[in-house]
Amino acid sequence: MGDIINLLPSNIANQIAAGEVIQRPASAVKELLENAVDAGATEARLIINDAGKSLIQVIDNGKGMSEADARMCFERHATSKIKAIDDLFHIRTMGFRGEALASIAAVSQVELKTKRAADPAGTYIEIDNSIIKKQEIIACADGTSIAMKNLFFNIPARRNFLKSNAAEMRHIVDEFIRVALSFPGVFFSLTSNGQQLYHLEKGSLKQRIVQVLGNQFGSKLVTVQEKTDYMNTYGFVGKPEIAKKTRGDQYLFVNNRFIRSAYLNHAIMSAYQELIPADSYPLYVLFIELDPEQVDVNVHPTKQEIKFEDEKIVYAFVQAAIKHALAQFSVTPTLDFDLDPNIQHLDAISKPLSEEKKASVASSSLYQAFTQKNQAHLIESKNSNLKDWKSFFEPGEEFKPLTQTTSFEFEKPVVEGICLKEDCPIIQVFNSYIIAVTNRGFVLVHQQLAHERILYERLITASAGKAVPYQTSLFPVTLQLSTQDAILLAELLGDLLQLGYLVEPFGKDSFVIQGTPADLEQGNEKAVIENLVEQFKHFSSDLKFSKREKLVRSLATQQAIKTGTQLTDKEMLALVKDLFSCSQPGITASGSPTYVEFKKDYIEQLFKRTV
Ligand code: ADP
Ligand code: MG
Repeated sequence: MGDIINLLPSNIANQIAAGEVIQRPASAVKELLENAVDAGATEARLIINDAGKSLIQVIDNGKGMSEADARMCFERHATSKIKAIDDLFHIRTMGFRGEALASIAAVSQVELKTKRAADPAGTYIEIDNSIIKKQEIIACADGTSIAMKNLFFNIPARRNFLKSNAAEMRHIVDEFIRVALSFPGVFFSLTSNGQQLYHLEKGSLKQRIVQVLGNQFGSKLVTVQEKTDYMNTYGFVGKPEIAKKTRGDQYLFVNNRFIRSAYLNHAIMSAYQELIPADSYPLYVLFIELDPEQVDVNVHPTKQEIKFEDEKIVYAFVQAAIKHALAQFSVTPTLDFDLDPNIQHLDAISKPLSEEKKASVASSSLYQAFTQKNQAHLIESKNSNLKDWKSFFEPGEEFKPLTQTTSFEFEKPVVEGICLKEDCPIIQVFNSYIIAVTNRGFVLVHQQLAHERILYERLITASAGKAVPYQTSLFPVTLQLSTQDAILLAELLGDLLQLGYLVEPFGKDSFVIQGTPADLEQGNEKAVIENLVEQFKHFSSDLKFSKREKLVRSLATQQAIKTGTQLTDKEMLALVKDLFSCSQPGITASGSPTYVEFKKDYIEQLFKRTV
């Protein structure tokens, strides 16, 4: 037998390694923007065509590269950021592994222009499949421009794996925003297919947050600022009143790197306990700075996870910093530096916390420990509520209501055979449940969940066939969204029309609701569309459901009659009849039971005498 082991040709090895760093256009965007920042740029322009599939370009005014460096930078493990292994533990730049440009060169066609301020001319390099095709001396501006074209042109399998332009664009915008939030001192712009989506002037962090997340938040941000020997926590959190029903604007950065941490998220959420309803999510843009030695650098830089040397301390600090900020805001409502005086007196802004809440915030031992400056490392872990943080929030848990499939063990209702009694006696209990007498006992129906099922089936049918008719709004409502949300809504307009909502673009990031489903009362359509965008954003990473399915589920839950609504006999009867003509009447799309049947035998069983 011959030997069978080959060494992979270097370009194939590069392509494989590259796939880990550059998984989709957004990963390249992140790497290129971070390189610009690392190079000291004060301006970085991102240009995208076809959601990055045909072009991703970043133009910066940073320090540029020498001719030799311009060639070198595309080599694997080429980096100017570390020289010795020890550097790894002190690294403060965003990149350091020297993999990004090598990976980019392995999976696209790259054009680099770069010039240092001190050099008379710059360097132009063209690379195809990791091979330098062309190199010239050119006249160009100081700084660096890297254009990567036709991503994955040489790896069709990966190219086919990319999602729709809308989905890839959303990932790009997410990365762009994360970098833009962490460097408010740098000008950023994003242009997509010739249209400028973001133009973010340099400014303070607060100004950047408002530019990115929306003007309406300007007066709703509370400053967080706590410095100790161990770490520095700063940024802004939203006032409790703007907490949303879905996890939306929550950004956490450690040493300026965006990270996800269910653990620290819990610390933040717990600081809001009792200030917001249990099922809502506060806004936060929070930065933690600590000695890089306290953070595990071996976690892969493209991953957004992080390991702390002592995560309990970090947890305690973060929680205390936010409690402190929220308590201060409640005591001194005018803390907000540039509040418009005209709105300052409004209840929603100046309303202090109740005395009771204030007292509970102030009496928390963590808070007390923290107010003794630089003493927080003495906090003992028994104070930090760590033991139950997991039950409070597990990653992915928030998806439960929608992703739970029909694993629910509900005795399949034998629908055949259930028929309502002639002149069916029907009553409502607690304005929430309906009791209807049937031919073999009675059913106890949950009005909201039952209606959800009915709407779900109707909307699914409509989404596949004849559109839900709409009625034109007499007073069309305007929606002003963040750019991020506007991109998302634009993508849903066709499907929404099919489901009875005529929504039209109306200038930058604005829409007008021109029509709503004919059989629905008008009035809350604005909230419906806003919630829909929120929920959609929230579930957008969920691959299990199609876009239509997500829309239908969201609309069905939102349009359903709520518990607590009094119904007439006629309405109750219609609801119960509609439920039992559903193809799956017993369960909502997300798996909750819609009714319970009490059959005669069962009822008799309940009262059986023991002999
Ligand atoms: P890393 O950022 O991990 O060092 P990269 O592959 O991203 O690795 O970049 C390799 C090197 O190329 C960097 O260390 C830096 O010296 C140089 N470089 C990359 N992008 C730029 C840029 N926009 N301006 C100046 N130098 C750059
Ligand atoms: Mg880099």
